[in-house]
Amino acid sequence: MTKKWWLAAVLGLSSITQAQAAEEVVVYSARIENLIKPLFDAYTRETGVKITTVTGKEGPLLERLKAEGAKTPADILLTVDAGNLWQAAQLGLLAKVDSKILNGNIPAHLRDPDGQWYGLSVRARSIIYNTRKVQPGELSTYEDLGNAKWNKRLCLRSSKKVYNQSLVAMMIARHGAEKTAAIIQSWVANLAAPPFSDDDSVIKATAAGQCDVGIVNSYYLGRLQKEQPDLPVAIFWPNQQDGGVHVNVSGAGVTRYAKHPGAALKLLEWLSSDKAQKLFAGANLEFPANPRAPTDPLVAAWGAFKQDNINVSEAGKRQAEAVMLMDRAGYK
Ligand code: FE
Repeated sequence: MTKKWWLAAVLGLSSITQAQAAEEVVVYSARIENLIKPLFDAYTRETGVKITTVTGKEGPLLERLKAEGAKTPADILLTVDAGNLWQAAQLGLLAKVDSKILNGNIPAHLRDPDGQWYGLSVRARSIIYNTRKVQPGELSTYEDLGNAKWNKRLCLRSSKKVYNQSLVAMMIARHGAEKTAAIIQSWVANLAAPPFSDDDSVIKATAAGQCDVGIVNSYYLGRLQKEQPDLPVAIFWPNQQDGGVHVNVSGAGVTRYAKHPGAALKLLEWLSSDKAQKLFAGANLEFPANPRAPTDPLVAAWGAFKQDNINVSEAGKRQAEAVMLMDRAGYK
């Protein structure tokens, strides 16, 4: 082997290695592995870009990103709840991006006004009811669940979960703190049982007749309906005459110290496309954030509804206030 040839071979190899290194995206993901793996595999097949996923719970992932600082290998943070995304932005962990594609695909109320994160799926936190005990005509709004007619008939999940903190934060954004506190107190007065630890338990208690109405994320109902199509529980879209259904997002942002920011943005843009959105939302029976993407048939069967269009970042901004308000209102 001549020296020249050898040098060329080494240089060639190293440039291939560099090209491969550039074609990689590292995602810190709080979304369950089996929900996103098929999607990422499809992206790799389509583009050749390798995606490495580090999966964990929302809190620890955020802590890890914070602790790693500029040394983080993460290019994208993918997490659930606008409260968590807002938190990540507040901590300076995300980069501002300006993308015509993302801004065109994701409605304004489902993304950070500052461009640091984008909602990728919509989760509706809605009312459910026992179909043997309640007629949908008896239901109207979240606020009405505090009406005396629902006394000892309401089930709620614990106020410790970010989902309810976000719900209450958005109510504060709409009604102000005083009115919201009165609504929460009226809910607490109507509880049929102490708050449950998860949404599934709320649905099961409603199915069992322990309570007649509850508030849950719709995909939990979807999952149970898939297993038990004759479950006597249905969804009701509240507040269609006024504010709309409370929605939250799972979403993502490019990290501030991304090693592959260009490739990360491209992946994010692809995730917002009609095609990817169908898979992203459908895998968890959520609603696509991109309104042009098709909804899973099981979910579509629940009918169209008007979403609350207050920007979901309010859920983060007002989270601490919501936690204190629920505590004072006696919502455990
Ligand atoms: Fe969930």
